[in-house]
Amino acid sequence: MKKLVIHILIAILCSGYGFIDQSDSLLIKLKQSTSDSNKVKLLAKLGFEYAFIHLDSSRQFSEQAIHLADEINFNRGKADALNSLAISYDIEGNHEVAITYFLMALDIYQSLKAKDGMARIYNNCGMVYQSLGDTTKSLDFHKRSLQIEKELGDSLGIAYSMTQVAALHLQMKDYKRSLPLYLSALNLLQSQNDIQGLAYAHWGLGELYMEMGEYKLAHKHAKEAFSYFENEENKKGMSETSLIVGKTYLYENQIIQAEEYLLKAFALSQDLGTQNVTLECLLNLTELYKSLNNYEAALSYHEEYSTLKDQIRKSEMTSNIKEIESNYNFELQQQEIALLNKQNAYQTIIRNIAIGVLLVIACLLLLLYWAYLSKAKTMEVLADKNEEIMRKNEIIEKEKQNALIAAKAKADFLSVMSHEIRTPMNVVIGSIHLLLEDKPKPHQIETLNMLKFSAENLLTLLNDILDLNKLESGKLQLESTSFDINMLVRGIRDGFGEEAKKKGIELKLDIDKDVPQQLVGDPGRLSQVLNNLLSNSIKFTETGMVKLSIQTIKKDSKKVKLKFTVEDTGIGIEPEKQRIIFDKFIQVDSETTRKHSGTGLGLSITKHILKLFGSEIKLKSKPGKGSKFSFKLKFATELITEKDYS
Ligand code: ADP
Repeated sequence: MKKLVIHILIAILCSGYGFIDQSDSLLIKLKQSTSDSNKVKLLAKLGFEYAFIHLDSSRQFSEQAIHLADEINFNRGKADALNSLAISYDIEGNHEVAITYFLMALDIYQSLKAKDGMARIYNNCGMVYQSLGDTTKSLDFHKRSLQIEKELGDSLGIAYSMTQVAALHLQMKDYKRSLPLYLSALNLLQSQNDIQGLAYAHWGLGELYMEMGEYKLAHKHAKEAFSYFENEENKKGMSETSLIVGKTYLYENQIIQAEEYLLKAFALSQDLGTQNVTLECLLNLTELYKSLNNYEAALSYHEEYSTLKDQIRKSEMTSNIKEIESNYNFELQQQEIALLNKQNAYQTIIRNIAIGVLLVIACLLLLLYWAYLSKAKTMEVLADKNEEIMRKNEIIEKEKQNALIAAKAKADFLSVMSHEIRTPMNVVIGSIHLLLEDKPKPHQIETLNMLKFSAENLLTLLNDILDLNKLESGKLQLESTSFDINMLVRGIRDGFGEEAKKKGIELKLDIDKDVPQQLVGDPGRLSQVLNNLLSNSIKFTETGMVKLSIQTIKKDSKKVKLKFTVEDTGIGIEPEKQRIIFDKFIQVDSETTRKHSGTGLGLSITKHILKLFGSEIKLKSKPGKGSKFSFKLKFATELITEKDYS
């Protein structure tokens, strides 16, 4: 009884593509299609549609679709075609083959995570197991399908799966579970106004209420289902539902209506060859005619019933034996499929590993090639850099040689100067002295004095230039001799005494009492520094005083650190000029230079000498108030002889 229902349901449920599509229009589309994947889809649809019209054509379409899908690696299309192929075998009654193809399709849908496809296969498998009589397995598959339909939120899918599950519970006489499922399905179908679904749900409810002894409700639903089937000229549905309607009329003792529906069901079932329905009709007609006391008719229907029952029992025995055999084969085949799937999985893993290894090797090769290229490039750049460095080195070497030659030329020139100019200058100055001592005439004295002044200035400039050159080239070395500091500074002061007196300036000397008298150092260079500073102070002071003071800063038995200060109450130096006056040839302004003469080398020489001493000159000055130059020097207080080292 159930088999045909199942096939009709498969037709409805499996049609992800819509059953309405005309086979002819699909064939036209197939001819016009240029895309291979589209061809696969159309062939799979044709395979499905022809499963209900012409099995051989259906299989040809499905097989073509599978072949093409394999060629272009279109897995989804292949799974759809396998599904169509499976349906064709199921309709033929070849359930084992059908299950094989369904499971192959399921494997692909699962790998693609295509839930709609998975739901479809679970549903189809459920129905195949139902037709195989394995209600538990069938229920399991339908529940899985229902679960996925719920995940997908497909109301119609949910309703159909619910109807299936409800029907299975009914078959298992689990009415409590069956009823709410049928009612929920009915609600969903009503909201969707899905006529076919509604017909099956009402039919199911008719059967369920019949079993539960709720004849009125059974009657209502069965009649509803009958009218749907009648509209659609669905003989199978009409036959089954009119049987229920007839039975409920019989229970309600409405004999005439009961006879009408039972005879309708009987005729249709004979037409369709649905023996179980025929058998039930015969039994109910026997009862009906018995109640009408028409024993002849009752006896005739009962005899027919007994013959058919015998026939059915015999054929059931043969089919049971076949079923046991096929079940055995089927289990075996399922195991084989599981094995094949496993092998497939291993192959996929191995293939993925191989692809991975190949990719890694390719990446390594690329890296090596890249490293080779960048190394070559680096080598090229390095070679260029080396060449450039060598070229630069050559230039530097040449410049160094030139600088050395220039330095030598300068040194040679200066040594010539020192000898060739200083000697005649000294002769000139000496001669002027002699002339001045030789009682010159008064008008000659002035000229000789001018001559003496100019010659002495010239010699000073010459000496300054030579000194600076020696200092700058590092040729000047400090002496280390013992000297009397008191004598040295008094001598210097006396040297400036007359000039200061002439200008009306007080020249002071202030030496700390604890300054050791005897020091070890270079008295000549110390005198040069003090002379320069005192000469400037006197030069740039018109009134007031010039003072040289020496203080002890630190002292022990062998060393002493002294601070020398030369201060004046002269013109002072502008703050911005204070830094530059120590550079050579710098004089604060031309007016001062004109007035006081000078070379602009004195302070530069002073700075260099003090640097040799390891000291530094400091200046504090305010324009119009005066200047204060100071420096600190360390001296040994005892002369260290070679004996001291030994
Ligand atoms: P110069 O031979 O011209 O004196 P210096 O190098 O000794 O050269 O001095 C540089 C300049 O610093 C001087 O020309 C002067 O303008 C300024 N100067 C140096 N000492 C003093 C000072 N005690 N008071 C004012 N100006 C000074």
